Amino acid sequence: MATKYVYYFGDGKSDGSAKQRELLGGKGANLAEMSNIGLPVPAGFTITTEVCTYYYANNRQYPPELAAQVDEAMAKVEKTMGKKFGDSSDPLLVSCRSGARDSMPGMMDTVLNIGLNDTTVEALAKSSGNERFAWDSYRRFVQMYGDVVLGMKPEKKTDADPFEELLEKKKHAAGVEFDSDLSVSQLKELVAEFKAAIKSRTGSDFPSDPKQQVWGAVGAVFGSWMNDRAMVYRRTYGIPHEWGTAVNVQAMVFGNLGDDCATGVALTRDGALGVPGYCGDYLINAQGEDVVAGIRTPKRIEETLAKEMPKAYEELDSIGKILENHYKDVQDIEFTVQKGKVWMLQTRNAKRTGFAAVRIAVDLVDEGKITEIEALSPKRIPADDLNQLLQPVFDLAGKQAAVKNDQLLTKGINAGPGAAYGQICFHADDAEKKFLANPAVELILVRRETTPEDLRGMKAAKGILTAFGGASSHAALVSRQMGKVCVVGASELNIDYEAATLKVGSKLLKEGDYISLDGFTGEVFAGKVQTKPSEVIQVLIHKTMKPEESPVYQRFAKLMAWADKHRTLGVRTNADEPKQAKEAVSFGAEGIGLCRTEHMFFDHVDEFREMILADDLPTRERALVKLLPFQRGDFAGLFRAMEGRPVTIRLLDPPLHEFLPHDHASQSLLAEKIGIPVEAITRRVSELHESNPMLGHRGCRLGIVMPEITAMQARAIFEAACEVKKEGIDVKPEVMIPLVGYVTEFKNQEKVVREQAEKVFAETGVKVDYLVGTMIEVPRACAVADQIAGSAEFFSFGTNDLTQTTLGMSRDDYGGFINYYKENDIVPNDPFQAIDQSGVGTLMRMGVEKGRSQRSKLKIGICGEHGGEPSSVVFCHEIGLDYVSCSPFRVPIARLAAAQAAVAAQKK
Ligand code: ADP
Ligand code: MG
Ligand code: MG
Repeated sequence: MATKYVYYFGDGKSDGSAKQRELLGGKGANLAEMSNIGLPVPAGFTITTEVCTYYYANNRQYPPELAAQVDEAMAKVEKTMGKKFGDSSDPLLVSCRSGARDSMPGMMDTVLNIGLNDTTVEALAKSSGNERFAWDSYRRFVQMYGDVVLGMKPEKKTDADPFEELLEKKKHAAGVEFDSDLSVSQLKELVAEFKAAIKSRTGSDFPSDPKQQVWGAVGAVFGSWMNDRAMVYRRTYGIPHEWGTAVNVQAMVFGNLGDDCATGVALTRDGALGVPGYCGDYLINAQGEDVVAGIRTPKRIEETLAKEMPKAYEELDSIGKILENHYKDVQDIEFTVQKGKVWMLQTRNAKRTGFAAVRIAVDLVDEGKITEIEALSPKRIPADDLNQLLQPVFDLAGKQAAVKNDQLLTKGINAGPGAAYGQICFHADDAEKKFLANPAVELILVRRETTPEDLRGMKAAKGILTAFGGASSHAALVSRQMGKVCVVGASELNIDYEAATLKVGSKLLKEGDYISLDGFTGEVFAGKVQTKPSEVIQVLIHKTMKPEESPVYQRFAKLMAWADKHRTLGVRTNADEPKQAKEAVSFGAEGIGLCRTEHMFFDHVDEFREMILADDLPTRERALVKLLPFQRGDFAGLFRAMEGRPVTIRLLDPPLHEFLPHDHASQSLLAEKIGIPVEAITRRVSELHESNPMLGHRGCRLGIVMPEITAMQARAIFEAACEVKKEGIDVKPEVMIPLVGYVTEFKNQEKVVREQAEKVFAETGVKVDYLVGTMIEVPRACAVADQIAGSAEFFSFGTNDLTQTTLGMSRDDYGGFINYYKENDIVPNDPFQAIDQSGVGTLMRMGVEKGRSQRSKLKIGICGEHGGEPSSVVFCHEIGLDYVSCSPFRVPIARLAAAQAAVAAQKK
């Protein structure tokens, strides 16, 4: 049987369903599903993603059987709608819409009103009894078709757009502000002018054959899969280029037939904070994209629709409930009201901020719509998004001061929660450039409205501010998804791109001036406004808020409790100070996975330098004696803070030269302080110089050549442990030897550590349980993990170094090419952010297998930066690690990711 390439939907009898998003794309699958559950969907058909794949594999040709299948489906649509495509008395019009598996809002192209020509437009005018509507539709069609199919759209948004220019001219001549105010004859003139512009640019006439129009649009939609902005979007969100898009051809319904018509987009709950109830925009007497394009500022559904169109509102409300019950999630819908009747044009699970994600998941559990386990799904709450709940917010006092100071500029719609300040930047390209030059730069992208081309610049900005557009505008949608602070529709803003200024009343701000956005309230301030910690941090860390005062915290805590119930992977933290350690425990850390002892040395750097500068053993030992009490005190503090939780302490790791001053002035100062000649310092610095310090004399190599350093550190650890144990606090020290590649290295250091332990136990008369283990951070350690596990009692993957040494790529130097690599799909993502699973990950698997083949209960963790990155946490679960360790603020993220990994594994 021939492959089925075309799936009909409509009239409750669809060929497809929501399960087929791979084949039908998200839009097509959900149009079929909505139709199946009896919702009003204009009939249409979906051309599958397989056709897209075929198209690109076969030099942009279609499968031979496609044309007949399309004809057959079109006939069905005609039958359902009771109109004929291309008919000269009552013509059917269709739209041609893209639709990938995962939605890519605004990235690809859509053409509306296909089927119009000089004959059918007259027929439409007659059959609808509305000549203005017919010509308005025709005008829109010629413009869209010209842009999308005939390549009239300028490459860059800054280039002149011939259609927009003609339209502006016409409106100006007519003395009207909106195109909805143009008269029939003016619209007729515009159509002729548009066609002439097409002829002069392309050399061909505008196609009048409806069939030819459809195929042109289908080709353009498939073609848009590979356009630059779609590619950028896919890279950002990890969507494979191979997936392809489907094409949906669908009977048109009209929101521009008069004042009992409208077009709208909405979320069934608010996507910024998750508040229940519709949140969306609509425009009366308008079509399609008008509502999100930011041309006219739309009205809010929750504010006025019930009053303006009570029947349509009621219908929409019941549809929203049906959809939420059916999909068990908040829906993002697109609809049109034609003569008072609601037609559904799209539904999908809504994108949401971290705040909304947590609230919606918890609310849906409370409403009995989903289970705890479903609430934990990474599709509902990407673990990283919890980060938003921990970010600073504006301080009320700071805001009041700013208001007093006359810094409050205006108020827009709060579209992306959080607080952000930064320098004004008016162009996305500039923002991107500035960000690439300095990733720490603080920018607020300020625009009249944003379009998909602004995506890269939006990524670079801390916050986004627009003058036009509503809660469903492009800017709002994309910021929500990126978790950026965003205020839209601040209509008092007068933005002058040419002069690079922003005016509100008499206040003037220039490009580069600071501006602050409160994404919770929509307030916009000139200058910087003071921030304060988020509610979750105030409750957990500063204790300046009680749990019962913060619903945000309560929902967070509920979710975290569910996560802990379902995860099996432990979560520890990387911390070197008691305060940090305590904070991490408040965030849920179950131990310290990495204490970097060198950070402690920076507090006593002169004594440490004395140790490094020592020419002989006695001098070095004298310096070490001075360091011992400092280290002991630091460790004791950590043990107390952790109250019996395991604490992994890594022995000295970085190359020594990192601790010495390199310029002459500071060397002289140091010479004076410790009483040795400056020449001695200069000489030692040059002795210690290495061309590849990352691969040089560091890690256990230091302790092996200078065992007295290891001895001092071990003594400090055990003295501290015994001291704290005497106070009645349980202690679990785990001594970790860095950069081991040979088992002999491990044994050498282990011996020094155990000798000190025995000595200290004998001296103090106290004994503590402890472990001696190793970092696994060079490929050789993975290769001989069985040998090492013969002695080591635990492993901890140091994936920062393991990535450097496996890839032969230095973290300090890869900045020069990594962005190029990402943009050109050489690497799927930054290997220092997410574990390179097929490379580094294979070595990790080997390390786990070999290690446990020798010692079956070997405890294994990870302490590289990757330990707090969700995809890496999931990987660590899969390969059977016991715990991940990450920075304190990432602990909640790791807990959720660990639960998500456990749930996913159980499903398998
Ligand atoms: P995108 O994926 O960019 O949202 P869509 O294919 O959803 O593009 O089309 C954009 C808008 O065009 C829709 O939200 C809807 O308002 C309008 N539209 C598309 N098809 C139709 C149709 N058959 N009838 C009426 N409006 C339509
Ligand atoms: Mg859409
Ligand atoms: Mg390391």
